Amino acid sequence: MHEISLIRSTFRTLEEEFSEQEFKRITDIYLKIGQLSNVEPMLLQNAFEAVISSEFAEQPMKLHIELLPTLIKCPVCEHTTEVIDYRFVCANCERPCSQIVQGNELLIGKVEYAS
Ligand SMILES: [Zn+2]
Repeated sequence: MHEISLIRSTFRTLEEEFSEQEFKRITDIYLKIGQLSNVEPMLLQNAFEAVISSEFAEQPMKLHIELLPTLIKCPVCEHTTEVIDYRFVCANCERPCSQIVQGNELLIGKVEYAS
């Protein structure tokens, strides 16, 4: 399942970036997900809980998901437009535009620790 492997790789990244002691103090994980990344927040949340209960049962952590809107930048007038309903058109000059500047992200935004 796509979401499970995403969550696993998120934990792998965190385990690489933090020492074991630091990792054990993590309580909250914030992910930034672009609308175009094909990730369903609900499924991601479920996958997170499944991985927690099978691999980190003694360390309850919470997942927070921030959905990032899709943004395009017009190559002609350089206006940035939020894409709604897959309408890739510049809001300023109404030219078709496919230059995506945000929307494919799948990032760890931040983590919070127990003090
Ligand atoms: Zn434009």
